[in-house]
Parts: sequence; C-alpha cells; structure tokens
Amino acid sequence: MRRTLPLTLILSLLLAGLLSACSTGSVIPAHSGPRIVAAESFLADIAQNIAGDHLQIDTLIPVGSDPHAYELTPRDAAKLADADLLLINGAGFESWLIPSLDTLPGTVTVVEVSHGVPFSASRPGDPHFWLDPISVIQYANNIRDAFIAFDPQNAADYEENARRYTLSLQDLDTWVHQQVESIPVQDRLLLTNHESLGYYADRYGFTVIGTILESQSTGSAPSAEHLVQLVELIRSSHARAIFLETGANPNLAQTLSDETGIRVITDLQTHSVTPADGVAPTYLKMIEWNTLMIVKALKK
Ligand SMILES: [Zn+2]
Repeated sequence: MRRTLPLTLILSLLLAGLLSACSTGSVIPAHSGPRIVAAESFLADIAQNIAGDHLQIDTLIPVGSDPHAYELTPRDAAKLADADLLLINGAGFESWLIPSLDTLPGTVTVVEVSHGVPFSASRPGDPHFWLDPISVIQYANNIRDAFIAFDPQNAADYEENARRYTLSLQDLDTWVHQQVESIPVQDRLLLTNHESLGYYADRYGFTVIGTILESQSTGSAPSAEHLVQLVELIRSSHARAIFLETGANPNLAQTLSDETGIRVITDLQTHSVTPADGVAPTYLKMIEWNTLMIVKALKK
C-alpha cells in the first residue's frame, strides 16, 4: 500500500521550494554549477565577457555601492566561502576584504585581476588601474588564464573571448582619444572627489590638478586648509569643472562651486556599472559615459 506524506511535511516542502525560488539571484544563487564571484560589478561584467556562456559571474558589492568602504554582510561571507573563484581588483583596492581572505576555505581560489599592472611612479599605491582601458587588457588576460586553469575544456573559447574583448578595449581607447581631441589642451584639467582618475588622465592627456578628498580612498574628510588651497587652485588654474563619482557627497564640491563659480558634474560612473536600464550598464559603457561627460563639461 502507498504511504502518504503528512500534510505538514508537504506544506513545509512546498514552502521550502517557494523560498528557494524567491531567493534565486538575490541571495546565494541556486544554481549548482561553478560559483564565480567578482568583488565589483565592473569586474563581473569584464569577466562575463571572457566567460561567455560557460560560466555565470556573480557580483559581491551591489551596483552603486562604494567599493572603498564596503562592509561584508553575513550573506556575503557565505557567498565568498562557497565560491570556486573570487575575482578581486587587488593592488590594495579591497582593503576591507583582506581580513576575510585569510579565513576563506582552501577551496576558494582568489584571483587578483590587476596582477602585472604596475603602479605609475607618479601614483604609488593608486589601485584605479581599470579607468585606463589599455590596462584592462591585462585584467582580461588574467581572467582568461584563471578560467582556463579552472575549466581547461573550454580554453579555446576563453582565448577567443579575451581576444575579442581586447579588440573592444582598443577600439574604446581609440574612440576616447578622438573625443578628447575636441578639448583645448589647456582646458584638459580634472578636479575630482578622490584620487581616482589618475590613470585615465595619464592615458588621455589630462592633468588632475587636485582632489577634494586628500587620498586615494573615500574615507577621510579634508581639512579646512585643504579646501582654501583648492579655491586658490581653481581660481589660478581656470579649471572648468569638478567631477564627482555617483554616490560622492556633493556638499564640499558645492561649497567650492559657490565660492568660485566652477561647475559640478555629479554622475561619473567610475566604481560601479549602473543597472541595465542606466547610462553605463557595462564596463565599456562606463568609460564611454565618463568621457562624454568630461568632454561636454570641458569643451569650449
Ligand atoms: Zn576610488
């Protein structure tokens, strides 16, 4: 005779099914395949381009959050411990993550995707390599090599995807150079919130004349003396705009603007992609958007 399950057990099984269905995509992915996690959304996008259909890349830091000051949630910690590959920018960028890396199980392979990109002599310790698309070619190569080591069966596809993505990066680089040509050389001045656009500036012939925050991170408030110096600098350099990344506190920039009349551009996408319906849902679009905003603000 067939045994029937008690109603309470059936209900709890149904509920468990519902709950796991609801959690798909928002908490820990319900898929049973390899788990690849990228710390930042722009790294996840770059990596997905290399992975193609073979691997699904998950993002740790939610879109729009500041990766300098991120705090891991218990869910994040579980996601990390469960990962096969964890892709980070490295070069000291994810300082909040370093203590957790030591506690990860031996099954998690951590890949520092900026490995091999040198600090510029004039920018020691500046980890914002990705804002120079030519440096991202090295990111793509490191991600390709990590995927090949992890999944050698699909090596040829990872090679091909990385090759194609490199061409996209080179095309983007050419396009940015062309856009920047419309800005008079003496007007190619960047004043930013924190020291983030240095490598972009070096590649495309801008000068970063100053930063509101006195560091390469976003943590500390500037001194009154520093702000007075910035006012002087804006007046003497004739800089035309202050560029803030999305999420940056605009109050200090607004104070400088009130004092000097300089424009404030508030929505550069430097540390995160936007949601799919936003202005920069991919890494390539981030650089494109930032370039359009900078050119628009600095063009005569
Ligand atoms: Zn930054």
